[in-house]
This record gives sequence, C-alpha cells and structure tokens, in this order.
Amino acid sequence: MKDLRSQLDERKAKHLYRRRRLSESAQQVETIIDGRPVINFCSNDYLGLANHPKVKQAFKHGIDQYGVGSGSAHLVNGHSKAHHQLEDALAEFTGYPRTLLFSTGYMANLGVAQVLVGRGDSILQDRLNHASLIDGGLLSGARLLRYRHNDIDDLSSKLASRTSGEKLVSSDGVFSMDGDIADVNALANTCSQHDAWLMIDDAHGFGVLGENGRGTLEQADCNIDTVPVYMATLGKAIGTAGAFIAGSDDLIETLIQQARSYIYTTAQPPAVAVATLESLRILQQEPEHRQSLNDNIAYFKQCAAQTDLNLSDSDTAIQPVIVGDVEKTVALSTTLFERNILVTAIRPPTVPEGTARLRITLSAAHTRTHIEQLIEALTQA
Ligand SMILES: *Cc1c(COP(=O)(O)O)cnc(C)c1O
Repeated sequence: MKDLRSQLDERKAKHLYRRRRLSESAQQVETIIDGRPVINFCSNDYLGLANHPKVKQAFKHGIDQYGVGSGSAHLVNGHSKAHHQLEDALAEFTGYPRTLLFSTGYMANLGVAQVLVGRGDSILQDRLNHASLIDGGLLSGARLLRYRHNDIDDLSSKLASRTSGEKLVSSDGVFSMDGDIADVNALANTCSQHDAWLMIDDAHGFGVLGENGRGTLEQADCNIDTVPVYMATLGKAIGTAGAFIAGSDDLIETLIQQARSYIYTTAQPPAVAVATLESLRILQQEPEHRQSLNDNIAYFKQCAAQTDLNLSDSDTAIQPVIVGDVEKTVALSTTLFERNILVTAIRPPTVPEGTARLRITLSAAHTRTHIEQLIEALTQA
C-alpha cells in the first residue's frame, strides 16, 4: 500500500497542496471567505445570476411544485415536465433540433465521448482542453491524440494519420484557464475534410459571447451543420447547475439510449430546471447584464495596459496573469487575499508546468471601483 502521508507532504513541499476556502454567503462580488470580507475575482458567475432575486424566486416556486429530490434517473421516473421544458427552451435558444440535460458538465462530456467513439476509433483534443473532455476521451477507450493549442495544421496531420475508425474532435469554445477562443470555423472545415465529428464545449462562452449570448457559435456564425455536437454548462454564466448537449434528433436519442453518465444517475432536482428556465429568460430579455460584463472586461484591460502586468491575449471574462513559478503564484494570491481581493492561484496539473497563474474572472456585477482596487493590489503585490 502506498504511503499517502508522504505523498501529501511532498505535495506541500512543492506548493501544490490544495485547500478549500470556506464561503459563508451566496455567490456575489462582495463576499466573506474564511471569515474575511473580500472582492471576488474568481467566480464563474459571469452575469451575477447565481444569486439573482428572480432566479431564487423561481427556484422556490419549483420546490413548491416538485419538492426537492427528483427521486430517480431520467429513464425511471425522474424526468419531470420542468426538465423537458428546459430542454425545449435550450433547443430553441441554441437553434439546435434537440438538447439533453445532464446533471453536470463533467458527466455530459463523459457521455458524448463514450457514445460516439470506442476501441479502434480516435478522439482528438486541443492540448488545453478541460479535464472533463480529456477524461471522457480516456474512458471511451478510443485512441486519444492531443494536438497543439489552437493549431489547425497539427490537428489536420493527426487526423490524416488516422486512416480507419470514427473520429471525434473536441475543443473548449473559450479555454477555461486562458480565456482565448477556439477558431471554430477552421476546426469545422478541417473536420469536414476528414469526416470527423466536431464537438465544442462552451462552458465559458454560453450566455456571455455573441450578440444574444448564444456563445462561441453565435460569435463564429456556426450552427449544427458545422458543429454537430454542442455542449454548454448551466453552473457558470447561467448561475444554476447542470449542463446540456445540443445536437440532432438522432444524436440526442442515441445519448438517451446509451450514455452511461446519463442513464445511471439520479436526475437533477426539477426545481433547478425551473430556476434555469428563469435564468434563460433573463438572459434573453435583459441584455444589460452582458453589456456590463463587456464594459468591465474593456475597463480592466484598459487599466491593466497602463501597468506592467503580464496579461494574456484574452477578450473574455477570463483574464489570467501568468506568473510561471508555483511558489510565487501562491504567494501573490495570499498577498491579494490579505488585501481583501480573492483571486485563486491555478497550478499544474490544472495548467501546464511552468505556467502557474492568477486566474482573474470578471463579472457583470463588478463596479469600476472594484476593478481599480484589483489593479492597485496587483501592481503593489
Ligand atoms: C466547468 C467546466 C466543465 C464542467 O462542468 P460542470 O457542470 O462544472 O461539471 C466542463 N468543461 C469546461 C470547459 C468547464 O469549464
């Protein structure tokens, strides 16, 4: 048996030990973490919907109608009218024929890979893809090939090297630790040349990118013809929980029949779906949240440009400051925390070796003063 204690100690010595900070309030910009009042710059609640009064009210109504637990899996008797309405609403919003709700994005990604590819097939993934896509690829049993970040030539030559079996290419839409955006049109062209499926995981684009918040695909002017498999999560900009896959009727039916991470798990509480329907309504009817977020991103970049901060090339709400060294990154995060600014240190293996970073995320709910305080704390740290 391996010595867990010495493994943990080794992690500590390398500054890779992870600790959970305790939050005592709802997701909001000014919050209390480990007993300290802080301005939060690491939430994925980009539009401030996680604690929106109307979303909370919808959640409560959902509980009055459906109770709390869903009781069973979707294929037993856990598939409620609220889940079904949400799937229809998401299909209409995304412009795909159908969608399927999953309990988490992690599970959605496992399910798609398992259903589309298996032994003898190939799955090709951007090197910076989210861990859930990678894990889905590994679990599928297909040969997993990782191409260089956003490198279409590398992808093409890897696709060309796979002469038999099904091929699935999957990519983050907005890269979760870098904030840059995949070139979806180029990916789509390459996939059609090589008869490969293309899947885009838009966890960080859905709700925020595009004129109507329909995400990376709206921004790139793509649809089901170019991206046959679209995935987005509901726990980030949407402010609730869960995820969905959008695709053809045949894809959705196949997932219902075969995706183990869909079949063998209890359905999410129906009241969550009721709350999500309300979030989706707000998203469509109140573009001002997206506008505030975009204003905040522009303001942050404008302020940061006047400093010597090492910003990445990102136009999204994810604005990493790459530090490199792990110990230094952790020390910076601690210093910021002592100045009541919450920015988590992101370390390997979440990001590649040598690229430890402060991952700043902006929200529609930040004020200009919050952003100025962040910039000042960053330059002094
Ligand atoms: C957060 C995230 C997921 C996982 O979604 P959950 O609903 O949190 O399980 C998947 N892909 C990407 C790119 C993510 O950022």
